[in-house]
Amino acid sequence: MSRVTRTVMVRSVKLPRRVFSIFVELEGMYRNMVEQLVLYAVRNNIKSFARLKALKYREMRSLYPQLPSHYVYTACQDTGTRAKSFLRLKRLGLTEREYPEVRRVSIWLDDHLWKSNGYTSIKIATHRGWAAVGLEPHKQYWRYVNRGWKLASEAKVKLDKGNRQLIIYLTFVKEVEEFKPRGYLSVDVNENNATVLVDGIAYLFETNMEKLVLGYYYRRKRVQERYDKLYGKRSRVKRKVMRKLREQKKKQDIKWKIANIIVRTAYEKQYAIVLEKLGKHVASNMIKRIKDKQLRHRIFQASFRGIQRAVEGKAREYGVPVVYVDPRNTSKLCPAHNAPITYSNGSRIGRCSIGGELWHRDVVACWNLLLKALRGDGSYAPNSVGYLLIDVSRIPFGTKAIHDPITLLVGLWARWKSLEVTLNNPKPQGITL
Ligand SMILES: [Zn+2]
Repeated sequence: MSRVTRTVMVRSVKLPRRVFSIFVELEGMYRNMVEQLVLYAVRNNIKSFARLKALKYREMRSLYPQLPSHYVYTACQDTGTRAKSFLRLKRLGLTEREYPEVRRVSIWLDDHLWKSNGYTSIKIATHRGWAAVGLEPHKQYWRYVNRGWKLASEAKVKLDKGNRQLIIYLTFVKEVEEFKPRGYLSVDVNENNATVLVDGIAYLFETNMEKLVLGYYYRRKRVQERYDKLYGKRSRVKRKVMRKLREQKKKQDIKWKIANIIVRTAYEKQYAIVLEKLGKHVASNMIKRIKDKQLRHRIFQASFRGIQRAVEGKAREYGVPVVYVDPRNTSKLCPAHNAPITYSNGSRIGRCSIGGELWHRDVVACWNLLLKALRGDGSYAPNSVGYLLIDVSRIPFGTKAIHDPITLLVGLWARWKSLEVTLNNPKPQGITL
C-alpha cells in the first residue's frame, strides 16, 4: 500500500472585515516567527524540525502566548523545509545570499489548528478563538471528495488581501495497492526527449525540455533586467510580471503529460515501469557541455529529475510498480550481441561492432534498461514477477536494420491520454534518419 496525496487550492468566501483582520494579525505573527527561526536555523545549520522545536519552542511561546501553541510547531516545520533547501543551494554554490528571504508566507496548519466543518466550511484556530470560514468548492474539489479521497490533517492558508479571501491548500489522501506486474515498460529520459519501449516497439516523445528551460531562463533574465532598470529591484510591477511568467511556465509543463501517457500505458498493460537510477555524477555527465552551473542544475531538475518525479507520482496513484536500474553503459552495449556500439562524432545513431547493425542511442538505452530489469539488476527480483510477456529473443537485429524509434513531436502527442491511441492510430510519424 502506498499513500498518494494531492493538493487542491480552494478559496474562501469573502470574509467580513472583522474576521479577515484576525487573519492578517495571525499571518503577521506567523511570519515573524518564521523569519526569526529561519535566521537561527541557517546560522546554526539546523535542518531538522524536531531539533529546531526543541531549541526554540519556549522562546517562541513566550513571544506570542496568545497564539495556539501548535503554530510554533508548524512554524518550525515550515522553517525546517526553508532552511533545508536554502542550505542545499548554498552547498551547491547556487546562491550568494547569506540568509533566505522570507517573502511569500502561507500559514501551515496541523490537525490541532483546523477542522473541516462538513464539505463547504472549515474552522481555523486563531489567537481570538476558532474562526469559521466558508469555502467556495470547485469541480476538481468535488471530484476528489466523490472519488473517495480523504482530507489529510495538514493544510496551508494564504491571504488574498485584495479580495478579503483566504486561499486554502487542502491535501487529499488515498491509499493505493501496487499490482503485480506482468511485464516491463522501460523509459529513457534525456534533456530533449523521453523514449518508451513497449512490447518491442520504441516510441520517442519529443519534450524539448532543454529548449524550454533555456527559453524561460533568458526570458526571466530579460524581464528582470528591464524592470530593475525601470522600477528598481523590488518593485511591485516586476513581481507581478515575474509571477505571470512563472504561471505561464507551469501551464506549459509537459512533464505531467508525458508521465500520464507512460503511467496509463503501463497500467493498461499491467506492466512495471523501468527507470534509471539517477546519481549525482549522472547529472554532470548528461549535460556537461552547459557551462553555467545554475543553468545546468535547472535543466537537470526539469528534464531528468522532473520527468522521473512526475512518473513516480502518477505511478503511485495508479498502483504501478517502478523498478530502478543502474544506468551505466546503457547506451554503449548492443543489447542483442552484448558488444560495444560505436557512435561517430556526436551522432545518435551507432553501429554494433559485431553485428554491424545500426542502433538509435535512446532505443539501445531502453532495451538495456529492460534487460537489466529482467536480469534482476533492479530493485525488483524477476522471479517475483512470475511470468513475463516480453521475450528477450524478440530483440530485433539484422545487419541492415536501423533500430529507429517512432518519433512523436510535441504537437502530436501532447493531447494524448495513453499510448493505446497511437497503437490504434494508423499514422504515427516515423522519421527516417
Ligand atoms: Zn549487435
